[in-house]
Amino acid sequence: MIFHKAKGIWIDGRKSMSKTLPLREYLNPQYVYIPLLQQASPLKRVVEVGADVTIGQVVALREGFGAIPIHASVSGKVTAVKKVWHASGRMVDAIEIQNDFQNRMDDSIRPEADIPGLTSGQLIEKMRLAGLSGLGGAGFPTYVKYQAKCPFEVIIVNAVECEPYLTCDYMITMAYPEKLLKGLSYFMRAAGVKRGVVAFKNYNTHIREALEPLLPAYPGIEIFETKDIYPAGWEKYIVQQITGKNYVGLPGEAGAIVDNAASTIVFCDMVEKNIPLISRVITISGEGIKNPQNFFVPLGTPVKDLIALCGGYADGLDPAKAWYIAGGPMTGRAILIDELIVNDTLGALIVQPMPEERNHPACLGCGRCADVCPVYLSPTEIKRAAEAKDAAAVKELNTQKCMQCGLCSYVCPSHIEISDAVGKAKDLLKKGA
Ligand code: SF4
Ligand code: SF4
Repeated sequence: MIFHKAKGIWIDGRKSMSKTLPLREYLNPQYVYIPLLQQASPLKRVVEVGADVTIGQVVALREGFGAIPIHASVSGKVTAVKKVWHASGRMVDAIEIQNDFQNRMDDSIRPEADIPGLTSGQLIEKMRLAGLSGLGGAGFPTYVKYQAKCPFEVIIVNAVECEPYLTCDYMITMAYPEKLLKGLSYFMRAAGVKRGVVAFKNYNTHIREALEPLLPAYPGIEIFETKDIYPAGWEKYIVQQITGKNYVGLPGEAGAIVDNAASTIVFCDMVEKNIPLISRVITISGEGIKNPQNFFVPLGTPVKDLIALCGGYADGLDPAKAWYIAGGPMTGRAILIDELIVNDTLGALIVQPMPEERNHPACLGCGRCADVCPVYLSPTEIKRAAEAKDAAAVKELNTQKCMQCGLCSYVCPSHIEISDAVGKAKDLLKKGA
C-alpha cells in the first residue's frame, strides 16, 4: 500500500492573477522551434533545412518505446536547426520554421467521415498518429496507456491543477467544456469502459456550472470535486479518491487511466478533424509579469513573444535579475533566461523577482517536512542518509516513493530545499540500482 490516508495542505494558489484576462489566441508567431526531444527521448528529424512544410506535416519521429510522430505547428520554410532552451532546463536542437502566415494545412487534416463507427483500435491509433502526449507535464505518449492489457473500469480527466499560479487547464476547460466531454467519451470508447469522471477542485464552481448542463448528453460521465489542498491533483490521490483503490506502479492496477484536461480536449479534435498535437494553452504569470494571462499557441512559440504580449515585465523588474520557472513553483524547474520555447509539457512560465539571498539557519528539527509529506516520508532522515552515501538506508527509508511535490521545502521555516535533497537521494538509488 503506497499510503494509508491521503493528506495535503492548503497553499496560496495565486491563480486569480492569470484568470482576470480572457484566454488569448496567438496563432502566428514569426518563427516556431520544434525541439528534437520528447520526454527524455531524442527525436529523428525527417525534414531538411530549406524544406517547405504545412501545418500538421510530420517533421520528426520519436522512435522505440512510445514511438510517435511530431508535427509542424505552422506552415512555412525550415530555416535552420538550432539550439533552444527547453522546459527540461537544457539547450536542445530544434527545427526552426519561418511562418509564411498562409496557414496551409497538411492533407491529413480533414473531417472524420465515420465518428460513430470508430473502433477502440482505430481511436488508439489516432492517439499515436496525432502524437498525443500528456499535456499536464508528463509528456508520456497517451496511446501506450490505452494499449496496456489492464481490466480498465474508469477514465479520469484531471482538471485539478493544484500547482500555484497555473490556470491553463482551467482556461481551456472553461473555453471548451463540450470538447472535454466529447474527448472523454472517445477515451472511454477507446478503453471499453462505461465510467468517466472529470475531477477538479471544489472552489472551481465555474467548471461545475459549465459541465453540469451538458452531462445528460454524456451517459456514464460524472464530475468529482476534490478538496482545496495540495497535492490534490496528484494521480495517486485522485485515483484513490475516485476508485477507493491504491496502486504502486501505474493507475491501471486500480482499473483507471488518468488523462489531463488539455489532452482530453485536443483529443476531441484529433478524433473529429484529424488535427495532430500542434498547439496548447500556456499560463504566463507571476509577480514579475505586467499583465499575467493565458495564451493558446502553436507548439514551438518563443515565450518571449508571450511576455511582450503581456505588456512585458512588471515595472521596475530587471529581466536579467528575474527568476524564471518552467512549470509551477512547486514542481517546476528554475531556468536562467526567458529564451524558452513552448513544448508539449510546458504549462506555464512563472516570472518572479529574484528572491533575496537567504542566510540559511540550520535544520530546526521541527518535523514539519515529515508532517506534510503525502507519502509519509522523513525528508531529514533521507537527507542525512544520502549525505552519508548510505544507499541501503536511503532505500530503507522508501525514498523512491517521493513524487517531488515540493511540499517539504514549501513548509520549511529554515527555507531548506529539502525536496531537492530527497531528489538527489533518489538519484543515488538509481545509480546504485
Ligand atoms: S521542516 Fe525544515 S527545519 Fe523543520 S525538520 Fe524539516 S528540514 Fe528541518
Ligand atoms: S517532495 Fe517528496 S519528500 Fe517532500 S513532501 Fe513531496 S513526496 Fe514528501
